Order: sequence, then C-alpha cells, then structure tokens
Amino acid sequence: MRFSALESLLARENTPVQTPSSRISDYFASQVFGKKAMQEFLPARIYKQVIQTIESGENLDRETADHIADAMRNWASSKGVTHYAHWFQPLTGRTAEKHDSFFTLDGQGAAIEEFRGEALVQQEPDGSSFPGGGLRSTFEARGYTAWDPSSPAFILEVGDDKTLCIPTIFVTYGGQSLDYKLPLLKSQSCLEKAAVKVCQLFDPAVQKVYATLGWEQEYFLIDEALYEARPDLRFTGRTLLGRSAPKGQQLDDHYFGSIPERAYAYMRDLEVECHKLGIPVRTRHNEVAPSQYELAPQYEEINVAVDHNQLLMDLMDRIARRHKLRVLLHEKPYANVNGSGKHNNWSIATDTGKNLLSPGKNPGKNLQFLAFFVNTIRAVYEHADLLRASIASASNDHRLGANEAPPAIISVFIGEALTKVLDAIEEGDSTEAEVSRVFSLLSKIPDLEKDNTDRNRTSPFAFTGNKFEIRMVGSTANCAGPMTIMNSIMGQQLENFYADVASLKAAGQSQQSAILQVIKRYIIESKPIRFEGDNYSDEWKEEAKSRGLNNFMTTPEALTAYATDKAKALFTSTKVLSEEELAAHLEVRLESYALQLQIESRILAEMVVNQVIPAAVRYQNSLAQNALQLKQLGLEESSYAAQKELLAELSEGISALKTKAYAMKQLRVQAGQLEAEEMAHTYCNEVKPLMDEIRVVSDQLEGLVDDQEWPFLKYREMMFMS
Ligand code: ADP
Ligand code: MG
Repeated sequence: MRFSALESLLARENTPVQTPSSRISDYFASQVFGKKAMQEFLPARIYKQVIQTIESGENLDRETADHIADAMRNWASSKGVTHYAHWFQPLTGRTAEKHDSFFTLDGQGAAIEEFRGEALVQQEPDGSSFPGGGLRSTFEARGYTAWDPSSPAFILEVGDDKTLCIPTIFVTYGGQSLDYKLPLLKSQSCLEKAAVKVCQLFDPAVQKVYATLGWEQEYFLIDEALYEARPDLRFTGRTLLGRSAPKGQQLDDHYFGSIPERAYAYMRDLEVECHKLGIPVRTRHNEVAPSQYELAPQYEEINVAVDHNQLLMDLMDRIARRHKLRVLLHEKPYANVNGSGKHNNWSIATDTGKNLLSPGKNPGKNLQFLAFFVNTIRAVYEHADLLRASIASASNDHRLGANEAPPAIISVFIGEALTKVLDAIEEGDSTEAEVSRVFSLLSKIPDLEKDNTDRNRTSPFAFTGNKFEIRMVGSTANCAGPMTIMNSIMGQQLENFYADVASLKAAGQSQQSAILQVIKRYIIESKPIRFEGDNYSDEWKEEAKSRGLNNFMTTPEALTAYATDKAKALFTSTKVLSEEELAAHLEVRLESYALQLQIESRILAEMVVNQVIPAAVRYQNSLAQNALQLKQLGLEESSYAAQKELLAELSEGISALKTKAYAMKQLRVQAGQLEAEEMAHTYCNEVKPLMDEIRVVSDQLEGLVDDQEWPFLKYREMMFMS
C-alpha cells in the first residue's frame, strides 16, 4: 500500500477549476433561496408577510407556508432540483439530511411535482439512530425536524444531483432538543432580550440585537492515495503512529508561504462553491504546519454563520475528493506540529448598525461599549468552566495546551490601552462628581485603533479591537456549542447588570453613575480572569491555580462543568436547555468521547499487532539469517555483533507492543461494562496513556526497521505537498 500510494502521488495531475465569472458578485448566493429569490418567486403581498415573520421570529400560518413551499419548489426546479431535504445538525457534530422527491402520485394515480407547506415546516425523518442521550427511549423514539426560517434554504450539488436543503432544528416528539441548533436559537433570543434592555439605557431606538460570528477554519490537505493507505487517518482522522519527519515546521517556511498548485486549485474550487451557496469566504493562506491551510469569511449573524461553517466542512470534504485530496479537519492529525483550530470571533450588533463591542475613538467615554465589554469579561469569569466544557472533545484534547494552542485554562486578554481604562475606573469612586473626573482621565488615553490591541496569540479569549476572538475552539467543532454558551452567559449577565443598575437608580443615583458603579464592581470581581502574559508558560499554570482558575486538561474532567448546579441554573433560567436536555446532551458528549477513543484504540491495536509486529519480525528474520550465515562462514563474532544488538532491540519492541496491545484490549473489555461517565474516565485515564506508550515503542521500531519493510507511510512522505 505504502509504495503504490507514493507512485500514485507522483502521477497526479491538477484538476482544472472553472470560475463562473471573474466577479464573485455575479454568482454569489445564486444557489440560495434568499430575499432576492423570494421576491422573484413570491407574490408581493406574501413576500412582505414572510420577511416580517422571519424578522419577528413568529410562527408562519399555513397559507403563507404553502406559498413559500411552492415558491421554493419553483425556484429550485428552475435550477434542475428534483429532491428536497431537511438539513439538520444532530449531536454527532456533523450535518444530516434525508432526501424526499418533489415527485408524487395524485389521487388519480397521475405523476405530479409537489411541495406543500407542511412538508417545508415539519418532517419526521425518524432518525432514531442519532445520539439522544436517552431523551427518546421512554416513550417516543422518533425525531422530528422543523424549519428554521432565519437561515435560508440552499441547493446542494453532489455530482449531477441537486437537492434543495432546508435548515431545520431536530427535536423529540415532545420538542426536546436533539441537536445543536435549537439551543443556539434559544440562546440567541435570551441574549437579545437582555441586550435590548441594556441598549435602551443608552439608546431607546434599539429594537433588535443579535450576536455576530466570524469563524476561521484551519485544516490540512493530504493526497487521497496516501490517506487511503493509512487506516488510522481513514478511521480516526489522525495518525496514531509515526515518527516525526526530520524537518517539520521548525523553519516556519510554510507559514504564509506560496500556496502549492494543487492546494491552490482546491481552494479556488472550494471558494466558488462557497460563494454560490452564499458563504462569504474572503481570506486564505498557508498555516504554520506543512500542508496546513486556513480560510475565513466575513462575519455574519450567528445562526447563519454557524450553518455556513457546518456546510463548509461538508463542502471541503466533497470538493477535496474532486482533486484527489482529502481534507483533515481533525485538531491534531500529526504529532509534534501545530494542530488546527477554529477561532470564533464573536460580537454583538444592534439593528441601528452599531457593533456593541466597538470602542469607537474614545473607549473611556463610551459608556455603552464599556458596559458590554465589562459584562462580557464578567460573564466569562463566572462561567469559564462551561466555556471550557463547550469546546471539549477527544480530538481537541490533543491540541489544547500543546504549546501552539491556548491552554485549557480560560483567561481573557484585553490589551494595554483597555487595561488602563479599566484600571482608571477601578481606582475612581464612581460618584457623580467622580464620573466626570474619570472621564476626563480616560479621555487622555490615546484613540484605540483596532491594531492597538497588541495581539496576544497565546490567549484563549482575546479582545481584538471590536470583537472577542475565542481561540480554543477545535477545528472539527460545531461552532454552535461554544456560541450557545457565549450567548447564554452574556444574556444572563446582562440581565443581572440591568437589575443591578436599576436598584442603584431606585436608590436615587443618576443613571450614569449607577452604570459606572456597577461596571466598577464587575471589573474588581472579574479581575482574576484577566491575563495579559504568555499563556503557554509554566508560570501561568501556577499563577492561574493561585487565582482559583481551573485547568481541566481532559474532556471528561472538563465536562463535569455541565453537571453543576450553576450550569443547571444557567440553562434553565435562560431556557436554553431544560435539566433533562442538559443531562442528555452531557451523556451524548461523554459517550461520543469514549467511543472515539474506543475506535482509536482498536485501530491502533490492529495496526500494531497485524502490521508493525510482523514487519519487525520480518526484519528480525533477515538479520538473524544474515548473522547465522556470517557465523557459518567462520567470520569473527564482532562482524555480526551489530546484528545481534539490533535483534535484541527488535525483540524488546515486539514484546512490549504485544504486552501493551493485549493489556489495552483487556481495558476495552472492562470499559465496555461501564456507564457513559465511568467509561469516558477509563478511556481517558487508562486506555489513552497505553495508546501513547504503544506509539512510543512503535515509533522507535519505525526508526529501526528496514525502510522497505515498514508498512505505513512515514511523516516525511505524508506531510509535504509539492
Ligand atoms: P484579522 O484578525 O486577520 O486582522 P479581522 O479582524 O478583520 O482580521 O477579522 C478576523 C475574523 O473576525 C474574520 O473572520 C471576521 O469575519 C471576523 N470579524 C470581524 N469583525 C467581526 C465582528 N464584529 N463580529 C464577529 N466577527 C468579526
Ligand atoms: Mg489563524
């Protein structure tokens, strides 16, 4: 496999890419049933009604739904679509779709094309095999999907086949969430409700507030033949074995370097498809590790941005195949080089066009900005553990704290200028007279340009001028996980802020001084979460501990945050998840962690027992034979002493691998008897360390065994694309 894969690689040619037009605006969103298509395909009266319904978030009436469904079908048919699918985001982390045809038979048995409002609004795709954490087992196994009108329908093209995809939520019969989308939508309305109230303290014109998200997606590319020849990549997305290449990323020569032709063709093709689907991708570049890349869009309203990222991951995979490539979205496909993340840039905006986290020219005088800014910090301080839990996964565990990614300790970076502003408020006494004094002090601080927030690349949660950049999100994650937490904790925090200000006002204080006083208190309370130094350093780990900040290094540890009373109170008070849903979501996360490690452990055992050991034995045989022959020829023992030493080293490796692989199997059998939580802990604390030990031994053997005998592609063969 290894050598034939390398031969295929040498014979590869680039796949040509056709761009529909040199102007992206000519074809942007051409496959999306957005406002433009709606206007064209709906009667004017209905169009108005639909837009109003979508914007207000109300339910659609039957008649309107029928009109939209009809317009959608006409629009889609005009583009050659024959099927439709409810497109949803189950707790597997990827997307799911079940296709139905527009074609049906009418009462007389005649063939017709039809798409009714009821099929648009709700479907029963069954889906009983999706993870549900026990939510369905009691009385109703089926899952239901329901249309989310806030995210537009789109056409997915696979080969010649085109399907109209309708973004939906996925719930149980009783309406409980089985997906990522419903909690996100609920968190969005919780944030909106609280943020509008707070905004109106400053500007009564604000009627609507929404969170914005701009993600950055990192990924690796690898040739298809090489990928197919590594069972670990195929089944787990990462290499479970493999010695580091002599040259990795030490020279930083890949970062922002010229993009290799094949990768470039892939990126262009991907961008065209993204643009047709209305995903506003704008930037692309080489990342730090060999064969690692990144792309990022313009930010969008959070729900649409999440859908677009999910759709993107699907597109990335499909388009890579056209180019005889595979995309690796795993957080750590290769050991000892950088892994991949998905920075989530999060902010809040109003319907009056204001970014609430944009400080403007003078942040010290911009009380509204300060309120939202300090409340964000206060929210993260209060719920750092939940935020950590929201990004925990078996694959992200390999990346966090690995000296290239943020640590597992959550802290907030705000930069020097804003630190000065917060310090000044902290030192003032917030009385009426003090307000003007603080303000005049603050006005001396130079304009805060975007670039003045000196970038701290090591921070997991950094203010970058007009938004917070959440850097610890993993590259495979559904952004909805961490974004739901951000919206919910901010929603709860803003409610508290509003109440705190109101009670000071009721006690006779002016609004301005009440706000400043509450902000001051929050600044003091949340100080332990602020950190401007090097997050990768060991000193920070010590210091964080003394500040009482947690450092949950593994997923099972991190997930305990979901089981706390604090988490339950947050989710139930914000109505984002009921206690039952929360427990179910937690169980799914634990189970998926254990299952992922179970698969890894099985594949590893197979690779080691069925391929590495036999390769070592073959090499051992040839060495033994060689030594024997030299001896028979009457040569001195010193002439085959090296062979004997190698034989001994090989024997040691073989025996260690065998023992460890068998012990690992025993552990898996034991783990199989346990409940989700204990199973996750067993995999984490017992199986995983054994996997690491096995890798060390196998990688040593790789450095020893005849290259011709080694069964798996080596790092130096896999990681570099020309
Ligand atoms: P860079 O960090 O490379 O200088 P930007 O700061 O412009 O670039 O943007 C980085 C990412 O942050 C992009 O994905 C962008 O869409 C996103 N972003 C910019 N402004 C916002 C915002 N207000 N809300 C959410 N995301 C944003
Ligand atoms: Mg980046």
